[in-house]
Amino acid sequence: MKAEIIAVGTELLLGEILDTNSQYLSQQMSGLGIDLYYISHIGDNHTRLTNAVLQALDRSDLLIMTGGLGPTEDDLTREAIAAALGETMEVQADLENHLRTWYFRRNRPMPERNIKQATLIPSATTIPNPIGTAPGWWVETNGKYIATMPGVPVEMRKMWEEQILPKLQIIAGTGVIATRTLKTVGLGESAAEEVVQPLIRSTNPTLATYAKNDGVHLRMGAKAESRDVAEKLIDDFEVEVRELIGDWVYGYEDETLSAVVGKLMKDAGLTVGTMESCTGGLLASYFTDAAGSSAYFKGSLITYTPVLKMQYGVPPETIEKYGVVSEECARAMASAVRLALGTDVGISTTGVAGPDALEDKRPGTCFVAMDFQGEVSVESAVWSTTRMEVKRRAVMDGLNMLWQGLKARAKAS
Ligand code: ATP
Ligand code: MG
Repeated sequence: MKAEIIAVGTELLLGEILDTNSQYLSQQMSGLGIDLYYISHIGDNHTRLTNAVLQALDRSDLLIMTGGLGPTEDDLTREAIAAALGETMEVQADLENHLRTWYFRRNRPMPERNIKQATLIPSATTIPNPIGTAPGWWVETNGKYIATMPGVPVEMRKMWEEQILPKLQIIAGTGVIATRTLKTVGLGESAAEEVVQPLIRSTNPTLATYAKNDGVHLRMGAKAESRDVAEKLIDDFEVEVRELIGDWVYGYEDETLSAVVGKLMKDAGLTVGTMESCTGGLLASYFTDAAGSSAYFKGSLITYTPVLKMQYGVPPETIEKYGVVSEECARAMASAVRLALGTDVGISTTGVAGPDALEDKRPGTCFVAMDFQGEVSVESAVWSTTRMEVKRRAVMDGLNMLWQGLKARAKAS
């Protein structure tokens, strides 16, 4: 079954609102195993909307529309469908009654132009809207389907879940698509894709990589006649994916690296503190995003100036000789904070977040070091990106170093 979505509203075209309705609906369609081929944004214009409906009926089996069901003159979804099908909208007594009661119960007079919300065309049946005044239309014409829903996201979702989804599950009957996301850290997107290359061409299940804020995501998808079978396909596929890239996989879907690291810290009974320069406390912020982090996260020294770095234990000679944006300074900071806070692990960040250079170091130059019970390691990078992104990447590097350290420790024991 080929489907498309039309999100109606000039606001969408002006960039005033984001089309979260289509985002939600497209995820739902893929869960139903319906092939979604087009998403369009059409403004509140009768001709363009009518043409869009005609085009959709020509190329798709199912058209889902959101928005434009309100009572005002620029709400034209019903009118466009009626025009496209050459049918006439007629007020339905039962719908009118329902609408008037809705206003009566709220002690408000019904504006007469609202009456159009009580209309239907011969090909349409009504889809009740329990939380708003605009009912949707369910249209069946020449083996094609149209569903209209209000633009207001809560109304749309409720109507979808309770009334349209069950209809489509019966009509589609084509099976379901199950998806699962594995999150990795420590590899760039092209490197990650290279590692899983043998599986990228697989057609069912499928595998795709996405570079995200918290690492590269690997999205697996499988299509089957039932959810159980699709999930089983993914279970087996995940084993193959992990054989290739398992060392970098830290979690599923909503899991965060700070929570994963936090759990390992707790299990190991270790503590950590940070000395941060270029990340300005962001690493500490990430650590404390995880519930229960007080069990292992002791604190952070935000030492933005050389003087403060020295005050908390970085040897002046190190700064004099190598500068603050250096591997040596990063190492010294990691060890200094471990000592100052009395933790098992110290992590430090120092660098030039940009946009200007510092100590002749290019903006985006970063050093992240870790002192893990006396064993010091350091990583460096030059990222040509925004200030915020440099800070975030340095933080992910720090968390990744700790994660790798914890895994190595667990393996050794
Ligand atoms: P109303 O009765 O409120 O006029 P409607 O069905 O006519 O409802 P619109 O007028 O198109 O819907 O949109 C109403 C509001 O719903 C918009 O102002 C916007 O906040 C939200 N909305 C509309 N379309 C979308 C969309 N595609 N994604 C997210 N929000 C939307
Ligand atoms: Mg409206």
